[in-house]
Amino acid sequence: MDLINNNFCGWTRQLPERSNFKLLDQDIYCDYLIVGAGYTGLSAARKLSDIMKDKKIILIDAQLAGEGGSSRNSGYLVDTTLNDGFTSNSDKENYVKKTKIYHLGIEAVRKFIKEYQVDCDWNECGKYFASSKEQDETKAQSFSKLLNSLGFKNKILFNKELTEKLGTPFYKIGVFTSGGILLNPGKLARAMVDTLPDNVKLYENSQIYNWKKINNKIECFTKKHKITTKKIIFCTNGFLKYLNVKKNYSFPITLTASLTRKLTDKEFKDIGSPKEWGVLPIRPMGATIRMTKDRRILIRNTAELRNPFFNE
Ligand SMILES: Cc1cc2nc3c(=O)[nH]c(=O)nc-3n(C[C@H](O)[C@H](O)[C@H](O)COP(=O)(O)OP(=O)(O)OC[C@H]3O[C@@H](n4cnc5c(N)ncnc54)[C@H](O)[C@@H]3O)c2cc1C
Repeated sequence: MDLINNNFCGWTRQLPERSNFKLLDQDIYCDYLIVGAGYTGLSAARKLSDIMKDKKIILIDAQLAGEGGSSRNSGYLVDTTLNDGFTSNSDKENYVKKTKIYHLGIEAVRKFIKEYQVDCDWNECGKYFASSKEQDETKAQSFSKLLNSLGFKNKILFNKELTEKLGTPFYKIGVFTSGGILLNPGKLARAMVDTLPDNVKLYENSQIYNWKKINNKIECFTKKHKITTKKIIFCTNGFLKYLNVKKNYSFPITLTASLTRKLTDKEFKDIGSPKEWGVLPIRPMGATIRMTKDRRILIRNTAELRNPFFNE
């Protein structure tokens, strides 16, 4: 297979290039400024515009809206998770709270794609938690027990069944959960940008470097211009501390993933023509692997501390 390795995002490369973006080219004023236009900022803008119809709302991003982590992820909408510190029985209450949040998130995305007829390759195909190590059976069994006690449908699978379902003999043990959705995150983020309400003004490639509060106004600065706002909402994910907010709460990490070209008919047939699937790791920081709807293989397997915007 040819190796194509560059800085583009495999998901957004499949979409038409954007040409309608606007840079901040003058000093402006607004009622609400939302900094960061990933899923969080785009959702905040939509909600705010709904409840504050007559207010001037500005959404600003240092890069193209939605094309940071929100387009560059593995595209799982999960209903349950493993390896998140909430899977021991003593923490069941917190685990349940978390799954309720996942449920709300899934329903919000479902409502959005239905309302705007968004094609984002939505597939309610469930997901696998799997490992290539036989000794992880104990962990798989106890996860399955937890899911059973909470009413989440699941099944333990061994190498033979996993090979049939996934087209690779790599995995020795797995838990299949029928809840959970796979989608194309680039398509979802792009749809959220394209359907922004009229009273939200979006500026892109416009990074906020600093801000200060003066009486009841907030002044925010890009390299050349100033935005004066009454209220500010930070949706910058791991970059929060670079704006001097909650400096000890978050930090950016870079996860790296690759997406192959489409498998040829022969390649696809050779692995048993599997249906679209997604595997999450049983071990912490293990790889996430997907066979996409259009027969590409996605592998997300490295993580490093790095900040693409600032040199520390
Ligand atoms: C490889 C990978 C795989 C993942 N897989 C999944 C998955 O399968 N399922 C899942 O649910 N989650 C997954 N995630 C996590 C998910 O992508 C993030 O949780 C989600 O994108 C966060 O959205 P956000 O809007 O909060 O942040 P982001 O998408 O990071 O958006 C923040 C935005 O803020 C902007 N910004 C930052 N600082 C400034 C500034 N000073 N001025 C202006 N703009 C600024 C950035 O440019 C960026 O666009 C994955 C993440 C990665 C990296």
